[in-house]
Amino acid sequence: MTTRPPVPPEDPGAALVYLDHAATTPLCGPAEAAIQRGLGLYGNPSSRHGAGLAAHDALAEAREQVAVLLGGTPAEVVFTGGGSEAINLALQGTFAERGWRGHLVTTAIEHSAVLECAAALNRRGVAVTVLAPEPSGHVDPARVAAALRPDTVLVSVMHANNETGAIQPVAEITDLAHAAGALVHVDAVQTAGKLPVDELAADLLSVSAHKFGGPKGVGALRVADGLVIESLIHGGGQESGRRAGTENLPGVLGMAGAAAVAVDALRNDLARAARRRLRKRLIDGLGVLDDILLTTTDPVMPETVSVSFGGVRADTLADVLDMRGICVSTGSACHAGQDSPSHVLTAMGISLEQAKATVRFSFGHGTTADHVDLAVEATVAAVEQLRDVRPFMAASGGN
Ligand code: PLP
Repeated sequence: MTTRPPVPPEDPGAALVYLDHAATTPLCGPAEAAIQRGLGLYGNPSSRHGAGLAAHDALAEAREQVAVLLGGTPAEVVFTGGGSEAINLALQGTFAERGWRGHLVTTAIEHSAVLECAAALNRRGVAVTVLAPEPSGHVDPARVAAALRPDTVLVSVMHANNETGAIQPVAEITDLAHAAGALVHVDAVQTAGKLPVDELAADLLSVSAHKFGGPKGVGALRVADGLVIESLIHGGGQESGRRAGTENLPGVLGMAGAAAVAVDALRNDLARAARRRLRKRLIDGLGVLDDILLTTTDPVMPETVSVSFGGVRADTLADVLDMRGICVSTGSACHAGQDSPSHVLTAMGISLEQAKATVRFSFGHGTTADHVDLAVEATVAAVEQLRDVRPFMAASGGN
């Protein structure tokens, strides 16, 4: 990924309109307060003295809070250094425990943490089947059923896609896999805190704090009671032998603070209804433009709108919006700045040209109707301007 210095809005007084919550979210107040508390708890949670016990108790309390969000018991929660690590622990830990043998089923729209991990497993001898999605961006459970074999150890599928927001039929896929004797890992990084994940019957469930108002570099893996996986990090016996190393207490407490907020929001469901309205407002507003395509259909996360603007380069459009203080992204954050089109969109059968013209708007805590209106106004103006420039560039031989 290439980086470039942040561009200040053209009008320095303009408010920053942050519509990239699928990439990461701002830290929420309770998470920040909990991090501060964790910084003060300097004892090692494994120490027997008073300072250690205070840290130990805070860690246990955080584990309970995170277990409420994820479902399961506190003993089933393993703290990790983020979503990618949780996913690697789930996939590699499962196959390492089984001698790197057997078969993994996953899908072509997974996050690179899953796909790269699957490729690494394959190099070690694990058979891997990567299923194509439907053109809507959803995985058909019938394809999963057809891919299951007697030696299938694990099915890894995401709860919702980070680029399109397409919600996957994970409950149905889990039932099919379990009936065939396979384990299930669900990448719930995009949904934890936004959709209920506690009732998912997956054996392994990955989440990441920075996607729901917590700090970056902290995540968790829910490991079903009784399921043995091999630790990737060897050392002390922390996390019940599943992840060695002195715990990141400020980070873990921060994640627990964000989890408590998310559990409350999920209970009253108000945020979801509000985001559905924001989604409709954005789509209706952009509807004045011709030649646009919504990359997915229902069921979809109300927070995510992925749109292709015919004849426009998404990275140029995102840069123009950035100069007006509006943060959006092209595909996933990991693809921003890369010239290669998104593997998710191309797997769905979207043309290279359309994939390179696709922008993702994603809402979160603090997104208002005013933000959406500002984004619509700026996007419509920018798309019209870029479409005007393009024929001129073509006529004058520019590229
Ligand atoms: N899985 C999905 C679906 C994601 O969107 C992301 C991050 O963008 C990850 C996994 C990786 O999480 P992390 O950034 O915490 O490593």
